[in-house]
Amino acid sequence: MVQNHVLLGRVSPYVAFQAYEEWSQPASITGIVRLSDEFACVFLEITPFYPVDDKWPDQPSDKGTFILDGHAVEIIGCFRAWFQENQDRIFFDVKKESISAKYDCTVAHIVSIKSLEFLSIGARVWPKVDAGYRRAMSRHHTASHLFSLALNQILHHVWDKDVSRDQRGYADFDRIAIESSKISEHCSIETYRIGKSLRKKGFKPTRLPLTSTMETDICNILDEWLLDRHAITVTPSRGPLSEKRVWSCSLGGTSITMPCGGTHLTNTAELGRVSCGIQYKDETLKCILRSVGV
Ligand SMILES: [Zn+2]
Repeated sequence: MVQNHVLLGRVSPYVAFQAYEEWSQPASITGIVRLSDEFACVFLEITPFYPVDDKWPDQPSDKGTFILDGHAVEIIGCFRAWFQENQDRIFFDVKKESISAKYDCTVAHIVSIKSLEFLSIGARVWPKVDAGYRRAMSRHHTASHLFSLALNQILHHVWDKDVSRDQRGYADFDRIAIESSKISEHCSIETYRIGKSLRKKGFKPTRLPLTSTMETDICNILDEWLLDRHAITVTPSRGPLSEKRVWSCSLGGTSITMPCGGTHLTNTAELGRVSCGIQYKDETLKCILRSVGV
């Protein structure tokens, strides 16, 4: 069911998004919606806040504050919302097939209802993302991408049929077997299902190395990559939120790209050492990555 709420104010038809860049200018409030007795959400003409992606919610949203008139209003979290040009309704649950051309995407910043005494349509606020929190998220998101490539490499010999390959030429275990990816400020947890359908595709669990061997081999590959500085980009870095974004990094002479709308470090040198813990139980491979940064 499509839910919608009357919007107080009007969201701009083009909401620029600058989540991947430093931000130091005020933005106008274009809309406010009461969500419940406790919470409301606020819309800006432009925002640096990263909202959780409803289609692939691996990375939680930013948190932070809006600064105005000496007050700091806490932004508890953010999510994606949808609107139509010149309409005064905002949609929080638009079905996938109806998104395309009909709706524009924007960021709903969640605030406590008590904060509304400081916020009004047209007010100018300084959006301030919690930089330490964002950085920890970006670190673990970047670590998860590098890990996925290293994992493909060490499991390449476990396949006995030809399956789709990653850009480094290894069987793309990560894409084929991923069940969930959960990024937090403390770690990233990648879970893979090694069930019947994977076995049918040619994956031989009996050939799986010991988890301790996998951990060591992955750490060795990551350590080698991290000896050099590799620039990371997510493009386009600004523009409509609903636009598809691509993560790029060159590793060991191969240029790698992956579709990804999350936030990332700008260079692998900022990652520091990545530790990796792997468990294999009940046909599930669970991998926990931690990076404390530099
Ligand atoms: Zn990603």
